[in-house]
Amino acid sequence: MVADDEAALPPGAPGTDLLSIHESIAGVLATQGDWRRAYHHLKSAFDLARAGSLRDTLTSSYNRRYLDQWLHGPALDHRGPPGMAIALVDLDLFKEVNDTFGHLVGDRVLREVADLLQQGLPPEAFCARYGGEEFALVLPDVDAARAVRIADTARVRVARHPWARIRPGLAVTISVGLAHENRAEPGRARETAEPERQLRRADALLYMAKRAGRNKVAYRDNESSRMIPRSVNSAESAGA
Ligand code: GH3
Ligand code: MG
Ligand code: MG
Repeated sequence: MVADDEAALPPGAPGTDLLSIHESIAGVLATQGDWRRAYHHLKSAFDLARAGSLRDTLTSSYNRRYLDQWLHGPALDHRGPPGMAIALVDLDLFKEVNDTFGHLVGDRVLREVADLLQQGLPPEAFCARYGGEEFALVLPDVDAARAVRIADTARVRVARHPWARIRPGLAVTISVGLAHENRAEPGRARETAEPERQLRRADALLYMAKRAGRNKVAYRDNESSRMIPRSVNSAESAGA
């Protein structure tokens, strides 16, 4: 059907991507008065544009818009126990990577980190570029212990990646702030500000992971904040 319609394209039609092809075909069909098929192609173009608007162009991971829509959408209302975690991930000393190896290498590092973060996530979880060299991992339906394992596995995966294959001397690590919330706890009500609060908690924990020396996951456990891996010469609790 689409293949037949594509034959209707005028020679030299602009744009070779799928979205432009659908748009051009719709234009041709509309001039022929074939509104039903024109609508079909415009709808396809619209769906492609909408899907593209939710992706980050550099890394192809979801973007901040997708994250915000998800956090404020109906998906959150149906989350039960064991809770949900948000991990904020920040590349360590990434400015030095750009300064030493150039922005193109920096861009490649961002793409590979996005791929590494995506690996090993549970089916309902996703990774979104939060901005710059920061990513958010959203982990629905996981308890706190599993969320910590997932975040630390990602940290180790990035640290062990053979970065020197890109440029000799290149090494990349991430720091992670992990905030877990169990919205199904008795007495908990849905608050619109709740996702922002969880993100703020993750951001504060990320800051602690940086202060503790980077390449760490910081999370809250009962009343204290904890760090993995533990520092050799200091207590595990960061005491926040
Ligand atoms: P820290 O460990 O404290 O996070 O140090 P940092 O150097 O990672 O943090 P800083 O905020 O000083 O630098 C972040 C750098 O990330 C600076 C900015 O140029 C770079 N960056 C942000 N977005 C991109 C991008 O899309 N591509 C490239 N190549 N660099 C980017
Ligand atoms: Mg940053
Ligand atoms: Mg950074």
